[in-house]
This record gives sequence, C-alpha cells and structure tokens, in this order.
Amino acid sequence: MNIFSGIKDLLGQINKLDGSINLQGKDFADVYAKNIALEEEIAARTKELEQANQTILTLNSVWDMMNSSQPLSSMLDKIVSILHEDLNYNFAAILKLEQEGTLDAYFEVKAYSFNRHIEKIYSYINDSIETYKLPYLGNSIIAKSINDRKIYSTPDIEGVVKMFFPCLNNDQIQEIVSAMNSKACTIVPLHKNNKNFGCVIVTSDRGGVTDTETNFLSLFANQIELAITVADLFEEVKKQAITDPLTGLYNRRYFEENIIKEAERSLRLKQPFSLISMDLDFLKKINDTYGHQYGDIAIKTIANVLKKEARSIDIPARIGGEEFNLLLPGVDSKGAFIAAERIRKSIESQALDTIGGITASIGVATFLEHSDRIDELTELADQAMYKAKINGRNQVQIAKKHNEINWQKTAVDTFIDLLSKKRIPVNEDTANEIYKKLEKIQSNDKNDATEALYSIADILSQTYNHMYKSGTTKSKIILAVILAKRLDLSKEETDKLKLAILLYDIGNIMIPDSILNKKDPLSDEEKDIIKRHPIIAAREILKPITNIQDIIPIIESHHENWDGQGYPNNKTGIEIPITSQIVLLVDSFYAMMQDRPYRNAYSIDEIIKIIRSEAGKRWNEKLVDDFINVIKNETI
Ligand code: GH3
Ligand code: MG
Repeated sequence: MNIFSGIKDLLGQINKLDGSINLQGKDFADVYAKNIALEEEIAARTKELEQANQTILTLNSVWDMMNSSQPLSSMLDKIVSILHEDLNYNFAAILKLEQEGTLDAYFEVKAYSFNRHIEKIYSYINDSIETYKLPYLGNSIIAKSINDRKIYSTPDIEGVVKMFFPCLNNDQIQEIVSAMNSKACTIVPLHKNNKNFGCVIVTSDRGGVTDTETNFLSLFANQIELAITVADLFEEVKKQAITDPLTGLYNRRYFEENIIKEAERSLRLKQPFSLISMDLDFLKKINDTYGHQYGDIAIKTIANVLKKEARSIDIPARIGGEEFNLLLPGVDSKGAFIAAERIRKSIESQALDTIGGITASIGVATFLEHSDRIDELTELADQAMYKAKINGRNQVQIAKKHNEINWQKTAVDTFIDLLSKKRIPVNEDTANEIYKKLEKIQSNDKNDATEALYSIADILSQTYNHMYKSGTTKSKIILAVILAKRLDLSKEETDKLKLAILLYDIGNIMIPDSILNKKDPLSDEEKDIIKRHPIIAAREILKPITNIQDIIPIIESHHENWDGQGYPNNKTGIEIPITSQIVLLVDSFYAMMQDRPYRNAYSIDEIIKIIRSEAGKRWNEKLVDDFINVIKNETI
C-alpha cells in the first residue's frame, strides 16, 4: 500500500536528519527549517494514516457483513450507506450491467444511498428505482471505466444524469444537479469472475480523486466483488442443501428428487414402496398458548421420533412447517401401517416440558398398490392424513385404493339410484333392460362391466335421441381418455371424466321430444330450454346422488366456452374445468359425426376445419391441437 511505503520513506528521512545533526554539526536555522517541513509532512502522513485506519475499519465491517450470511441486497445497501455516511460521499450507488454485448444493454440499480433528489428523478420519470433501466452508452465514461477496468472521475455530473435519464427536461436536470451539490462523479468498475459486473458510482464535493482515494476505492470495490461472489456461492450452497435447518431432517427438494428415483426403481423391480404423510395436531394452539419456540420444540420432537424410528434406507423429510413425510423403500401398505402406528405411539408417549404431550395424524399410501403415479400417491397419502384428522386426529389411516373398479362401481350405483328412485322418466322395458345389465355387472369381471356401462349410457341416450348410435359412448370415452393423457390429467381426474361422459347429457331426458327432434329452426324459447340441460342434469337429476358430487361441476360446465360465450354461467378460460372442455369437444365431435333431423353428418375434414376455427373461442387452443393430432394420428 502506498501509505506504508510513504511512512517508511519518512522514517528514512528522520534517520538521515538525526545523522546530519550529530555528525556534521550544521547550522541551527537550517535544522529548524527542515524540522518545520518535517512536521508538516508528519501531519500530512498522520492524516493519511487516519484515513487508512478508517479504510481498514470500513473494510472490516464489510468483511463482517460478508460473514454474517445476509442476503446480497442488504449487504449492498449497507455498503452504499457506508460510502455515503462514513466516507462522506454525497451519493453512492451500485449498478449492475445487464444484457451486456447486446444493443439492449442497460444498468439496474442494485443499491443506492438514500437521497431525496434521486427519488425525485424517479417520480419525474414515473417509474420505480427497482424497475427502471438506466441506459448503457458504449462511448460514455462509465462504459470506458468498466471496460478499461480503471477508476475515472468526471466533473460533468449533468452529463451523467442526462445520460441515465434522457426523458428529463433541462430544468429538471438543472434542479437535480444543483441539489446534488457535488463537484465530481467517480466511477469504480466492478467485476465478477473476470467478467464485467457493473460499477459503483459516487459523487463528492471534492473535485477529482486523489491517488489515496483511488487506492481506497479500488480496495473497496474488491470487497464488493468479493461480497457478490460470496453471496452467489452462498445461494448456490443453499440450493445444494438437502437438510432442513430446524430439524436436520431432509428437506422437501431432496425428498421430491428421491421419491422420483424410488418410483423408477419400484416400477422397474415391481416392488412397492410406501409413503407416510404426517401432520402435527393442534400446532397453532401450542404456538398461541406457549409461544412459537414451544411450537418449534414440538416440531423438533416429531423430527427426532422420525429419525429414531426410520431405518437407514428410509427418507424422513420435513416438507413444510409442520408436515413430514417418510419414504419407506420396499415396504408394502401392511408394513407401512405397522411403522406408522409405531411412530404415532412414540410421538404420543413423548413427555414435553410445559406443553405436556403432542400427537400427530398420519396417512399411508403405497406405490403400485394404491397408485403408480407419484402425484397421485402424494395426494392419496395426504387425503388419508386428512381423514385421520377428521376422524379425531392421533391416528393412522391407509389410503383408499384408486383403481378401475372405483369409477365403475360409482357408475353402477348411480344408474341404480337414477332408476330405482325414478329420477328420470324411463319406460318400464328400458328400465328392465338396464337393470339386467346392472345385475350382470355386479356378478361379472371388470372388462364386461365397462362394456355394459357404455351400453347403458347408449340406451339412455337413445331414449331421447333416436339417431344415437350404439357404441358412441365407448368411442367418446376412448377419445376423452386419450385427450386426458395428452393433457397429463391424473388418474382420479380421468376417472371423473369417464363418469361425466356417461352422465353429461342426462338432462336431455327432461326436454320434450318435440324440441329435441325438431327439424325446423328452434325458437328462442326452445333454445333456452335446450340450454338448460346441463343445469337440469347437475342440479335436478344428479344433485341428490352423494357419490358423484365431484362429477356435477364438470357436467354443469360442459357447455361453457373458453371465450365466455357459452352457457349456463358464461365462465371463461381456466374457470372452466378442463374435463368439461374435453366433454364439450368430444360431444361436439360425435354430434357432427352423426346425422341430425336438421342436417347430415359432416366429414372428418370438415369437422377438423370447424373445430380448428373455434380454437381459442369454444375451446382451449392446446386442447384443439391435441385433439387434431389425435384424430389424424390415432385410430379411435
Ligand atoms: P391440525 O391438527 O388440524 O393440523 O391443527 P394445526 O393447528 O396443527 O394446523 P393449522 O394448519 O391450523 O396450523 C398450523 C400452524 O403451524 C400454523 C403455523 O403458524 C404453524 N407453523 C408452521 N410452521 C411452523 C414452525 O416452523 N414453527 C412453529 N412454531 N409453528 C409453525
Ligand atoms: Mg397441524
């Protein structure tokens, strides 16, 4: 450092002077004059030393900040406030260069010392400091400083303000510049990993920069660069972290990565694994009664039980505040239930200071057994956990199986309900025909059941639409399922979709035949009656049937259009269940494929054209793309 070599120099001169007094015996006046000059020099050096001391202190505090794991933004804020308050710069800001090397390069203000004149600029330009893009001009002194990697100073503060805020008028610029009360603007380039990062800009009422100041500012810049690098590293390390700091359990990210690996392994080896999902009971009450720190103790207690009970290959994780998961590779639902029960008992038996005891509600779901999809498995484990809560907490519940038989059983129960409670007007012969099929389903295997359900839906449709071809329901369901797969719907959603397709037009049964099969154009009143069929189905016929409550919203919205022009509620876009959009598309497709009293069937090419032209209007565009792709490439 220059200051230290200067001091060494000074000591050398003093020694020389001592020698000259003793050895040569020079004249007193001469010595006196030299002494005065020396004193002056000592005073100047002392000032430099003081400044160096201040520099070291400042750098020290920056260093302390860097070790305190503060977020980068607050670190940069402190750095500019040190420049402003401790080191007497009128203004300081840290700018980051974005999109360097393109014509759109600009600066972003990362931190600035508070200055009401600067804030005023932003009120003039009607933008916020965080979002405003300061223009980067390749021939400016700022660009030069960054590219030359040298500190430059300019007295032309007005030029700098003009460059950054080209939309200010001259009066505004004059007002700002005179209020800043500075004689020079100094630019200190910043680099990270040897690439341009941006710069620090300081203004002061001293004109230009002295060598000492340049030295100091470049040391300071080094510290900022280090802070930026450390903060980035810190973020990186945080990203790589796999444990939760409060409990030491694995974190959500690690868990999610591993459940994917486990599912792959499980599918490959045809070996199940289980997921235990757990939630602490009444944590809010513990927090409210004893304070948050006791809530934390309860959480840590659960974590310790999990650590103790888990085998070395299990993965215990804290998924959220008070939610925990335990992944048990190779364990089926029976084994997982035993493990979950053991954990539950262990939690219940913990005696905690002040709080007393705690309990947890636990859900268990098993891969391959309950589902072979991860999202569904987590959902099922969660549902089981909620069931444990509803049933009184402090208990284990196993997930309900999610398989083909479920939607079929629901469909059978629904048809039995519709007929036995006479919810729809069907003549006796038709009712008997359907009953026979339902009875057969109950005694037969799964595939026959599916076919029989399709044909029941066909028979019901034929009661009000004489042109409805047998086999159409099956085709509709096949197409709907292909679309559901393309849209990545879960098995549960797909099952609901199948049920919705069996039932969505049931409201038509209530509409007079004279309207449904009319050859002439419908009157407005008749159109209104037709438009009521989703509501009739949803609210009048199906509402009392408890096991299809989650199908009703799909049916109620199956004539809503993406652009809000549908009926009955003028829903738009994602307000409409995607399953309803699929029903509408499948329904329209098969309606156009069939003759109607008032028109002949369309060709496939005509249908594709019509549906394409309605993309974004009646239907979600992605759904239309998928649909056309399916129609052109798959045999359905
Ligand atoms: P339930 O039995 O239905 O689960 O009731 P609960 O009170 O445990 O559940 P609720 O979801 O109503 O409240 C959860 C509370 O947990 C709210 C939240 O403030 C608290 N919480 C979440 N994370 C933490 C944490 O890390 N520490 C502490 N002390 N409390 C937390
Ligand atoms: Mg809870």
